Amino acid sequence: MGEDKNTILLSCSCGCSLLKLERDTSVKLYYLSHYLDSSYQQKNFYSLLKNKIKLIWLILSGKEYVFWDMIFTKEDLKKLYSFLKEDYKG
Ligand SMILES: [Zn+2]
Repeated sequence: MGEDKNTILLSCSCGCSLLKLERDTSVKLYYLSHYLDSSYQQKNFYSLLKNKIKLIWLILSGKEYVFWDMIFTKEDLKKLYSFLKEDYKG
């Protein structure tokens, strides 16, 4: 998985996951994919299990929930801004 002029990768600062944003210029659509790092999941098994049980409870009880938080640095946001800016030039 790599970057090019139509694909950027943004990693969470804690290493838990990765966002991949691709643009298809032929149909002017964007595809956002969220990848979870399996090695991170294994290291934090009990913490993640607790969060998953909590998530299941929130879903079953019909409450709002956040599936997964991601932490970005200012540099990540600059990268995202530069990527998206390409489409608003005119
Ligand atoms: Zn993270």
